[in-house]
Amino acid sequence: MLRAVDIADSADRAWFSAAGRSARSAASGALGLLSPTWCHGCGAEETVFCLECSEDLHALTRHPFPAEQQALALPLLFHGEGVLVMPVTAAGRYEGLLSRALLAFKDHGAITLARHLAPALRRSVELAIERTGPGTPGPGPAGWTLVTPPPSLKSRLSRGFDPLQLLLQHALSSPGGGVLSGHRQLVYTPGVLRQSRKSSLRSLNPRGGRQKSRGARARRRSLVGSFEITARGARVLPGADVLLLDDVLTSGSTLGELYRVLEAAGATVHGAAVIAAAPSPGADDEFLLVSASPEA
Ligand SMILES: [Zn+2]
Repeated sequence: MLRAVDIADSADRAWFSAAGRSARSAASGALGLLSPTWCHGCGAEETVFCLECSEDLHALTRHPFPAEQQALALPLLFHGEGVLVMPVTAAGRYEGLLSRALLAFKDHGAITLARHLAPALRRSVELAIERTGPGTPGPGPAGWTLVTPPPSLKSRLSRGFDPLQLLLQHALSSPGGGVLSGHRQLVYTPGVLRQSRKSSLRSLNPRGGRQKSRGARARRRSLVGSFEITARGARVLPGADVLLLDDVLTSGSTLGELYRVLEAAGATVHGAAVIAAAPSPGADDEFLLVSASPEA
C-alpha cells in the first residue's frame, strides 16, 4: 500500500518533470486528489484557498483606486486642451495576500483561484470605465474593446494557459456583472496582438525574467517593438475604444507599449484596469538619478 508520503513524493516528481510541466494545468486537478493541498493564502491544510483568505481577498480588493501616479512609464493622453497620465485603476495593492494569490494563480497553476480573483478584476474594470466619463469629453464610449498583453512564448510553453484570459472569462461571466452586463457593451477580443519574434526569443532567455527589477526607463526601452498587430487586430482595432487590462501594474511600461502599438493601429486607448498595483521599483533609482544630476 502506498503511504501518503510516497504519493506526495511521486506527485512532486511528476509535477516538476518536463512532461509534468507541459501538462500542468491538466494534471493539477488529478494530483489535487492525491497530494496534500494547502491554502495558497495562509497555509491552512486541505484547501486550495480557505474561506478566511477568500473573505480577506474580497476586503483587500473591494475599493479599486486610481494607481497611475506611481507608475513612471505610463503614456500621456491628450484630451482636448488637457494632458493627463493614462488613468490606471487597480483593485488592490500588490502585497501580502493579494500578491500570494496572484503568484499562485499565475505561476503555480492554482487555476481554481480564478474564481476568487475575477471579482477583483471586475470591480477594477467597472471603476476604470466610470473614470473615463466625468472630466473627459462626452459621456464615454458605449462599446469597449478589452485588450490584454499577448502572452509570451515562454509563458505559453510553461503554463499552457493565459492567466489573464482565464480571469477575464470568469469576470465577464460572473453573476451581477454590473456595467459588464449593463448598457455598456464590453467585448474581449483576444488575438489582436502577438509578441514579436524578437521578444519571443528574448523571453526564452533565462535572464529575461528580471525585468521587474529594472528601472522604468530601461524597461520601457527594452519593450519597444515587443508587440505586433495581428491580421485580426488590423480588422477590429481601427476606430475601437480600448480599455487595457493587466494583472499587475509596476512601472507601466507594458501598458505604455500596448498604448503605442494600439494607437498606431487606429484605436483610442482610454485607460487600463489591473488587479494589483506595485510601487514602481525604478522610482527611487530614477529619483536619485535626477537629484544627483540637476543639469541633466
Ligand atoms: Zn487561507
